[in-house]
Amino acid sequence: MDVQLALSKMKKYCATNSTEMQFCQLTTLRCGGTILLTVFPTSQKQLLQVAKLCTMANLPLCVLGNGSNVLASDKPFFGVVAVTKKLNKISVVGSKVVAQCGAHTTKLFWQLHKHGLCGGEFLRCLPATVGGAVVGNAGCFGQCMQNVLSKVLVWHNGKVQWIDASQCQFSHRNSIFKHTHALVLAVEMQFERGDSQQILHKSQQMLNKKQQSQPLNLPSAGSVLYHPTVCLSALLDKAGLKGATIGGAQISTKHAGFVVNTGNATSTDVFLLIQHAQNVLQSQFGLQSNVEVQFVNF
Ligand SMILES: Cc1cc2nc3c(=O)[nH]c(=O)nc-3n(C[C@H](O)[C@H](O)[C@H](O)COP(=O)(O)OP(=O)(O)OC[C@H]3O[C@@H](n4cnc5c(N)ncnc54)[C@H](O)[C@@H]3O)c2cc1C
Repeated sequence: MDVQLALSKMKKYCATNSTEMQFCQLTTLRCGGTILLTVFPTSQKQLLQVAKLCTMANLPLCVLGNGSNVLASDKPFFGVVAVTKKLNKISVVGSKVVAQCGAHTTKLFWQLHKHGLCGGEFLRCLPATVGGAVVGNAGCFGQCMQNVLSKVLVWHNGKVQWIDASQCQFSHRNSIFKHTHALVLAVEMQFERGDSQQILHKSQQMLNKKQQSQPLNLPSAGSVLYHPTVCLSALLDKAGLKGATIGGAQISTKHAGFVVNTGNATSTDVFLLIQHAQNVLQSQFGLQSNVEVQFVNF
């Protein structure tokens, strides 16, 4: 299909769309270049239409939740960004919760609190959508998505189907969805009955710890590197990297695992600083680190 025809059909399907947006408006790092077309689907059907049209016109598609784990390059993106935030319904039946991919994790937390369901306190601390959190098996303080997930509704190779959590190949900050072009449409989760006051207290303690130790006042994508067994931020701190700067990107002075945007960082600044941190970990400690943040359009 002709690209222009596909784009005009997408604009018709998704009333909320823009040809003026840049990744810096859609990512928590606040950097990244222009986008050919950004759409905000309001139904699963619209999201799937966009995905199908992209396939037919051979257009790259980037699905974005809250953009809190993405580093998009400064180059123009000649593709479509579908932002899922308007797909945000959550339903609670007993201890089973079904959420659409674009539901914010804090909104999900408040639903759990309201219904007295525990095990999802960590969700209050994530600046994420449910879909993005499943892709990266996000979590903190010993809890993560894998622990609460029972099924995922996915679109893959033109088919929509529920798959069991056991098929998602979860590991530390990783899932099968990081390595396929599947779309996460919705998730089903199972929680335990608990006391709302305790749920509130536990989540508040987690939030307090985060606020004390992380630079939540500056744009970032959270921890940028990880290692399955070693705490990298401690090593980066030991190597004296806190405060190291390239352009507007800085290794946070508060938490060495975070790269923050001090105001005018380009994605190239952030990228080079991540590479620098990786090189230091390799040369000083002989450690090969993995990049946690997802690169887009590099
Ligand atoms: C201040 C701060 C603190 C953080 N703390 C933590 C933490 O404690 N623990 C932790 O694990 N992470 C943390 N993060 C990282 C980030 O919040 C998580 O990785 C989060 O799960 C990303 O969700 P998102 O909706 O923002 O996804 P996005 O950043 O929008 O997307 C991430 C990836 O998932 C893909 N994706 C998104 N939605 C879908 C979908 N529906 N279907 C298919 N693919 C999709 C995107 O294409 C991209 O590749 C933090 C980030 C920040 C900025």
